[in-house]
Amino acid sequence: MTNLDLLEALCKTPGLPGREQKVSDLIRSHLPTGLEARESNKGDLLVRLPGAGRRVLFLAHLDEVGLIVSRILANGCLRVERLGGFPVHCMPGAELTLHTSGDQISASVATQPTHLMQGRKELFELNELYVEIGARSAEEVRSMGVRVGDGLTWPARFERIGENRIRGKALDDRLGCFALCQLVEALKTKEHTYDLYFGFTTQEETSTLGAAPLVEMCQPDLVIGIDAGLTFDSADDSNPVCDIRLGNGPCLKYFEAIRGKNSFVPDWETTFRISRFLEKNNLPFQAEASTGLLSAVCTLPSLKEGLRVIAFSIPVRYQHTPTEVADIQDLDLLVKITIELVEQGIL
Ligand SMILES: [Zn+2]
Repeated sequence: MTNLDLLEALCKTPGLPGREQKVSDLIRSHLPTGLEARESNKGDLLVRLPGAGRRVLFLAHLDEVGLIVSRILANGCLRVERLGGFPVHCMPGAELTLHTSGDQISASVATQPTHLMQGRKELFELNELYVEIGARSAEEVRSMGVRVGDGLTWPARFERIGENRIRGKALDDRLGCFALCQLVEALKTKEHTYDLYFGFTTQEETSTLGAAPLVEMCQPDLVIGIDAGLTFDSADDSNPVCDIRLGNGPCLKYFEAIRGKNSFVPDWETTFRISRFLEKNNLPFQAEASTGLLSAVCTLPSLKEGLRVIAFSIPVRYQHTPTEVADIQDLDLLVKITIELVEQGIL
């Protein structure tokens, strides 16, 4: 069974957009010795397994969704803004961890008690919620080291559930980071015909151009995104537009979009070639064409004179909540498939 200690540590480490250094340091500390690793000015981490062939960049993102303190109230509570697609509907009553420049502080999201809200709608707007940290006044908040601009994440939890599944925060996209670490480990001694780069990008949750510096740094011929993907198999999904299921294998992307906005269309020729190879070799995967998210690679095809970009995703239920769920078999298969693609020269 896959040793998940590093994945657990990655998920538990805070990495808000723009503040991913601890996650990056953790990855660096687990890299095989002697590897070339360098960082961009904004903290993107690039690791290289040198080779003579075309440059292939694997890409995952370091950051996770969270909140940022926007105001300290006179009664000692905090107002917050969202960093990325933080799910407001999951917030009332939830526990959070507040990251100050010094300590971590246990926090919770408060609302009016239900007794005083008769007749009102169920869902809350963000500006109706506030964060409780036990302080009696704004002065006490400041004396605890809390400032406007401090970040909050879901609490650091990670657990195995059922036979093959895991639950916790930030599986999006520490699963991808973990997969890249496993690829580095597996490919460092294998014969292949590529110059391989592994990029860990910052600020994916708040920007669609977060990975651009990594492209500048290694000038890839092909980029392969690896991110958490959506599933369409939960109990409340009565009319899904697509059929991605947890535990049915990793997904090869044909299309992703946020409805009515931008979309990402991977390099068709490469995607088609890979899908035929996987089918021929009985390597299970799911074809993905879905709306609901854009990943770190979505803008990269427009860089340079046009980049070839493809993407895989690892299915994750309940994305961006503190209780994301993934299936280890999907992760293991993704790593296996990717190693095959490199070894067989299919990229
Ligand atoms: Zn993601």
